[in-house]
Amino acid sequence: MFDTLTDSFTNAIKKIRFHDDEKALTKALNELKKNLLKADVNHKVTKTLLSRVEILTKENGIGKDQFLDALRVALNELLEIGGNKGFVFAPNPPTTILMTGLQGSGKTTTTGKLATYLKNKQKKVLIVAADLQRLAAVEQLRQITAQIEVELYEDEATKNPVEVVLSALEYAKSKIFDVVLIDTAGRLAIDDALMDELDEVKKVANPDEIFYVADSLTGQDAIRTATTFKEKIGIDGVILSKYDGDSKGGVALGLSSQVQVPLRFIGMGEKMEDLEVFIPERVINRLMGFGDVEGLAEKTANLIDEKDAKRLTKKIQKGKFNFNDFLEQMESMKKMGSMSSIMGMIPGMGGMSKAIKDFDFENSSELKNIKSMVSSMTAKERENPDLLNNSRKQRIAIGCGLTVVEINRMIKQFKNAGKMAKKFSGKNGMKQLQSMMGGAGGPGGMAGLPR
Ligand code: GDP
Repeated sequence: MFDTLTDSFTNAIKKIRFHDDEKALTKALNELKKNLLKADVNHKVTKTLLSRVEILTKENGIGKDQFLDALRVALNELLEIGGNKGFVFAPNPPTTILMTGLQGSGKTTTTGKLATYLKNKQKKVLIVAADLQRLAAVEQLRQITAQIEVELYEDEATKNPVEVVLSALEYAKSKIFDVVLIDTAGRLAIDDALMDELDEVKKVANPDEIFYVADSLTGQDAIRTATTFKEKIGIDGVILSKYDGDSKGGVALGLSSQVQVPLRFIGMGEKMEDLEVFIPERVINRLMGFGDVEGLAEKTANLIDEKDAKRLTKKIQKGKFNFNDFLEQMESMKKMGSMSSIMGMIPGMGGMSKAIKDFDFENSSELKNIKSMVSSMTAKERENPDLLNNSRKQRIAIGCGLTVVEINRMIKQFKNAGKMAKKFSGKNGMKQLQSMMGGAGGPGGMAGLPR
């Protein structure tokens, strides 16, 4: 996610050195402008962003740190427009959400994805089939809910969505659901009939929030339809679907400020897990090449035992990260499948995420080597990397069929990974990381993790 946009920002950042002049700033800004427009960011949004960056950088004297600070502030102004972020639970359950969108936008799929996201947070979710316009919508929901094991409320006896919603809400209250997601009707285009129906459903549902699902492949049209929905029925959040198919991705950057409704989630594929929460501060870190540690933690939380993760974090902070932990981490990453989206979340690795899009975790020779190296170690060596003197390294090298040079290189990588993890897991992790990255040739220049 955000590969193209992240490239735009990191390329511009590279153009500025520690103490620099106005010419360098102009170069960096031009680079940014060119790339943002290429990524399909709206031209007005681009202009506003650039002029803020220019003013803010000049205010503090031109240099890399000032440029980075200015970018962060300007991006924050662009994305933080107030309103809720991610999913917000109502004080009194069930939290009721109206899912709206045009036909084909991905509304029904997104409803399933959102239910999956909430189910992973241990919430009891009810999906209500109130799209009685599109013939296949109810059947589609039956399949989705069966797959994700979430309850579906449907009523074949009526064609009136208002009736369905009313009885569904009663049912949800009596069965103590945490969240009710109402899949409403879509149309091929915005028309009065659609708006009237939505208005009626809205009145009886009295939802906590209304989400509009916008197809990112329609580019600036997504902004226009979202704005119309906002004006006609009022929306509280936008979910951008099919972002995986949008190689440019610029629409996500301007959406919140253009529609004046926060972008809340992004759909990244057809599978039920392919939904990512859009939290501005995390996105800004990713755009600037600093990764999204919280997002990574959230993604991994469902796959890695929480206790294990805490134990590992403690070890890392104490500097006691050992080879067993290293292997454990690798195994966890393997479970997560799509490497490239994950790499983009790791600080400093954003630039590499594209390069490893086709990374084959199962068959990577590098990871195989690391595994065979660790399995040639004694239990004590695995727990205490400091034991590894030359003769032990030689024994290990023979044991796993590698050279001592290769063993040394992998141990160095392991140590760097441990150091990085330690630095980053501390309180001031982000600051330290930034200064380190500045010294290591800018974002993307981080060394030490397996390649
Ligand atoms: P609806 O008419 O708005 O309910 O649309 P659907 O939920 O049926 O989605 C239309 C098509 O878009 C389906 O083929 C979905 O699988 C596909 N789709 C939805 N979201 C995404 C996404 O984030 N990425 C991709 N690649 N396809 C999506």
